[in-house]
Amino acid sequence: MTTISKSHLLSRMLAYMVVGFALGWFVGEPFLGLCIVMGGYFVWSFRQLFKLLDWLNDPKAKSKEPPESKGFWGEIFDGIYRLQKQHSRSRQKLAVVIERIQESTAALNDGVVMIDNQSNLEWWNPAAETLMGLKMPDDQGQQITNLLRDPRFADYFEQGGYQKALEIPSPINPDHQLQFNITVYGKGNRLMTVRDVTRLNQLEVMRKDFVANVSHELRTPLTVVSGYLETMLDSLGPDSGLPPVWEKALNRMQEQSLRMQNLVADLLLLSKLESAEAQPDPEGIHVKSMLNSIVEDGRALSGENQHQITLDCSEKVTLSGSSSELRSAFSNLVFNAVRYTPLGGKIHVRWWQDREGGHMMVEDNGVGIDPMHIPRLTERFYRIDKSRSQNTGGTGLGLAIVKHVMLRHGGKLSISSHPGKGSRFVCHFPDKSLELEHSS
Ligand code: ADP
Repeated sequence: MTTISKSHLLSRMLAYMVVGFALGWFVGEPFLGLCIVMGGYFVWSFRQLFKLLDWLNDPKAKSKEPPESKGFWGEIFDGIYRLQKQHSRSRQKLAVVIERIQESTAALNDGVVMIDNQSNLEWWNPAAETLMGLKMPDDQGQQITNLLRDPRFADYFEQGGYQKALEIPSPINPDHQLQFNITVYGKGNRLMTVRDVTRLNQLEVMRKDFVANVSHELRTPLTVVSGYLETMLDSLGPDSGLPPVWEKALNRMQEQSLRMQNLVADLLLLSKLESAEAQPDPEGIHVKSMLNSIVEDGRALSGENQHQITLDCSEKVTLSGSSSELRSAFSNLVFNAVRYTPLGGKIHVRWWQDREGGHMMVEDNGVGIDPMHIPRLTERFYRIDKSRSQNTGGTGLGLAIVKHVMLRHGGKLSISSHPGKGSRFVCHFPDKSLELEHSS
């Protein structure tokens, strides 16, 4: 393969000029000779240019060999031909890749939809047609919000961010629930995935119903068992005729039935919190009175361990929310602090308000938590050390309850801790939960 260089071209032109000039000089007209040779070269070059234009304008040029030519025009033709071949090879490769991507997305059960930066539909796979009723090619180029008319979809689509998925009924079958996820790519283009979550939701409802029903059914037999155990323990004594070993066994049985009762109560509360869609009916809660009574209960639980429990809360705070749910959440945090803080430890309960809202903190200088466990602490039955929490009598549901109560009140729970130094749990309430009533 030869390559055309500028110096090559210039030296060739110079050679033609010299030859023209020399021939002209022999016949006594050097400039005429130069003009004739250069004119001939110019005409020849024009012809090559025409050939090139004919070839480029020919619709079948891609498959045809370039026109025959010599010299540097021949090299130009070959160069263009080589570039054309390379281009067509990479186009073929790209077409194969696109075909494979389309084949694989076509095989997906989830819908995949490509939307351009003007919110127009560009491309989608067959699953998207089945799930949303899109039609190729009629809907191509249409605004997605004109086809999915649910206002919740329009809000979700316009808000950007797309941290969470959206679940709404399918536009073609309201009995089916679809989950939409959007990812932004390139310059404002969006890739939307659509999944039918009807079955998953049904399973989730079944799971919740099952737990709620089992807990409910267990409540009565457990009350009966613990009632009889209590009666038997009351009647124990030297005249009862029962061997002393029975006393130990009955005490253990009562302890365990109490644990089961607590577990059932927590499970029922958790299912109630999960299934209640609406926000709790707002009541005006006097925070200081509630925290005072919880701190008293904490002191009672501490008993001989005699933790130093302090409370710092203004008299004038009133919170809007469900009193029973919030009492349960705050009690769980204070009782946990008592359970996981060794003898004589310090527990500080504090309420404060700032521009972001109200905050209820429970801080202890107890055993602390390794940071690796913190993200999972609010999962049901997640325990760092199984043996430790069995000793403390916890159900493993306390922090899950706190998390759900906070979600239902539009707030959140934050946890920070250092192993061996202590833990801090803070319930953050939005500004709108704070009532401006200043009662004492
Ligand atoms: P449990 O009934 O086991 O206490 P929780 O959901 O209330 O269940 O708490 C989950 C786990 O978090 C506990 O098992 C315990 O290991 C840890 N934990 C909770 N509160 C504290 C705390 N104040 N200090 C140290 N660890 C804690």
